Amino acid sequence: MAERYTVRVTKDYLVFCSGHFITYEGSQCERLHGHNYHVAASVEGPLDENHYLFDFVALKNIMRRLTDELDHFMMIATQSKLIIADITDERVKLNFKGKEWIFPRSDCVLLPIENTTAELLAKYLTGRLLEELRTHQHFVPEVARMEVEESVGQTATYEWRRG
Ligand SMILES: [Zn+2]
Repeated sequence: MAERYTVRVTKDYLVFCSGHFITYEGSQCERLHGHNYHVAASVEGPLDENHYLFDFVALKNIMRRLTDELDHFMMIATQSKLIIADITDERVKLNFKGKEWIFPRSDCVLLPIENTTAELLAKYLTGRLLEELRTHQHFVPEVARMEVEESVGQTATYEWRRG
């Protein structure tokens, strides 16, 4: 018998209000805007000897930290092939086909992704969650899933599987 359980957390405070713009269709770029992103995280696996899969409180605390890292920042995709980022200690200068934006470095969060789509934000947050679980909780789930809702009714989900 293969049993599997899921623990999922989503809370009013698992929200980040952040600025971004994405590129699309290879040559288009959105105007700068922001979202109140809502996040839900879940992990799957068997129960341990205490009939636990994973502590809800610990998962909520980790997710709160991770969403706080993005909250009230301008999100910069540093791996973008279309938006070129020139980063110093003081500022981040972005260039898309000659159009430029300059932000104070301290107002930006640099993300090692290609585009700040909800899909890639979900993947990024999953990677951060797994890192936290491994390093601080000595826990590797069978499956980790991250839902990022960009606006009401629009959610992207990323799923990671062990092995
Ligand atoms: Zn957007």
